[in-house]
Amino acid sequence: MNNRKGRSKKPFVIAVTGGIASGKTTVCELFGSLFNIETIDADELAKEAVAVGSECLGQIVSVFGSEILDSTNNLNRPLMKKIVFQDQTLRKELEQIVHPAVKTLILQNLMSISGEYCLIGIPLLKAKNQDPNIDRILVVDCEEQEQIKRAMARDNLSQHDVENILSSQLGRKERLDLADDVILNKGSKFELAAEVERLNSLYEDLSSTI
Ligand code: ATP
Repeated sequence: MNNRKGRSKKPFVIAVTGGIASGKTTVCELFGSLFNIETIDADELAKEAVAVGSECLGQIVSVFGSEILDSTNNLNRPLMKKIVFQDQTLRKELEQIVHPAVKTLILQNLMSISGEYCLIGIPLLKAKNQDPNIDRILVVDCEEQEQIKRAMARDNLSQHDVENILSSQLGRKERLDLADDVILNKGSKFELAAEVERLNSLYEDLSSTI
């Protein structure tokens, strides 16, 4: 029996990934509202790992200098992004600092999940073996034109801005190659809910057999 106070083994874990405005959050919310399935947000944990006072942030400052902090002593994320975008070596150094801390936080969060399975939202998932805690990958797939339309409406971005973000992300085909399961988000939210229902049955079966 599992409960919030701690469990003896981790739940079955499904990573949910997809490009900008593909519908990941909407899908995770449907799993939550329809079936009470919890989602761990990897982006939030990555922010928590580098919070003010964290060991990670100290290490980052020792590599990148205190110029990497903003006026509130938080990590200046846009600057950090810009630096590592231009320098592969520094990107690797940053990853070596941050990834282990994020993995530890993920594991801590997993051990307090109450259900038999849960979701982890990882927008930038790049490889099948990125995290040994992941048992299965669900790709929320979407036509690029639809992503552009939704991102422009939601974030007040220009078409050019969204196209730039799209070109910096994994391509559609590469992402689909990672998938164990795919939801093609091209219809209504009602249709999306039917897909979530289908996958919930699968994940209930899979998680009861591990
Ligand atoms: P990001 O990673 O960029 O934050 P996301 O993949 O989590 O985005 P969502 O936030 O779920 O995407 O969806 C993007 C926008 O599109 C939201 O405003 C959402 O309400 C809308 N949306 C998603 N799916 C549908 C759908 N099937 N029908 C209508 N609107 C949708």
